[in-house]
Amino acid sequence: MAPSAATHRAEETPQTADPLVSIEGLSVDFDTPRGTIHALRDISLEVPKGKVLGLVGESGCGKSTLAYSMIGLLAENAKVAGGAIRMSGQDLAHLGPKAWRDLRGRRISMIFQDPMTSLNPVTTIGKQMIDIQYREPGSRAEKRARAIEFLEQVQLPDAAAKLDVYPHQLSGGMRQRVCIAMALLTRPDLLIADEPTTALDATLEMQIVTLLRELQEKFGCSVLFVSHHLGTVAELCDEVAVMYAGEVVERGAVREVFHTPRHPYTQALFDCDPARFRQATRQLPTIPGTLPDLRQPPAGCAFRARCTKAFARCAAEHPPLYTAGPGQVARCHLNDPAEDAA
Ligand code: SF4
Repeated sequence: MAPSAATHRAEETPQTADPLVSIEGLSVDFDTPRGTIHALRDISLEVPKGKVLGLVGESGCGKSTLAYSMIGLLAENAKVAGGAIRMSGQDLAHLGPKAWRDLRGRRISMIFQDPMTSLNPVTTIGKQMIDIQYREPGSRAEKRARAIEFLEQVQLPDAAAKLDVYPHQLSGGMRQRVCIAMALLTRPDLLIADEPTTALDATLEMQIVTLLRELQEKFGCSVLFVSHHLGTVAELCDEVAVMYAGEVVERGAVREVFHTPRHPYTQALFDCDPARFRQATRQLPTIPGTLPDLRQPPAGCAFRARCTKAFARCAAEHPPLYTAGPGQVARCHLNDPAEDAA
């Protein structure tokens, strides 16, 4: 992981030519009885148009908080402490409830981890898919036909008959296909998928990932894919952002980051990926230590207490995002050319 000669200090994340969403210095705090948690800290990130951006990191690193802030579904004790989320001239970080009602479900849709909690258990699939089209023109029969069309798009067998069943009568994989169909019904510009395959077994997971890729290419929407599963990110995503302790610590094209990770945390995630083990083992490796207390984020590098490559500068100086390769940035002093010269 030695820094290349081409590395230098980056002022910002790599610029996408024509991003759909630009997140600029976003910070989100949660007020709790035990103090304020600084869950997102100065996040700058772009979601490219018509591409899939993966968001990876351990539980508690801020992935879901970032995803929820992009669809206006943060918890009541959350507040945007700074920054903006820009999309088509609007700042999503500061939209009011009415503006969100106009936007959510139309231009931005979301697929959640557990389809059973996002579908209404006492209403048929058909009624839910017709109700969700309340802003669209057309008769009930036309909306029913459209619902069938989208269930066929997600390759649900016998789609017409599925309109009359309740969620509990479908398997987990079928329920997630229904959720994907509902999320795409309004042809959103941005689809946010928050760990959509975590509740599924490995075979279904791959089927859903393949389906998402096909549909993304067909509809041309952008996708933010939140996952802790590196294999699915490699399969589905064009670009990836790695989060740690509420910050983006590495970002770049999937092939670059997966082939040449430039942040010790990214490397540690790969080292712990069970898919990389060729021999059976009783004990999977983990990254020693825990996330820092985000009520008082540490000075210097947030990963320092767990980093095997930490050196004196890491305790005193918060690393910026350094350019670490073509279109790749990493928040680690090892990528500072001044360290090469030292
Ligand atoms: Fe490790 Fe220092 Fe790089 Fe942080 S800045 S990841 S502590 S080497």
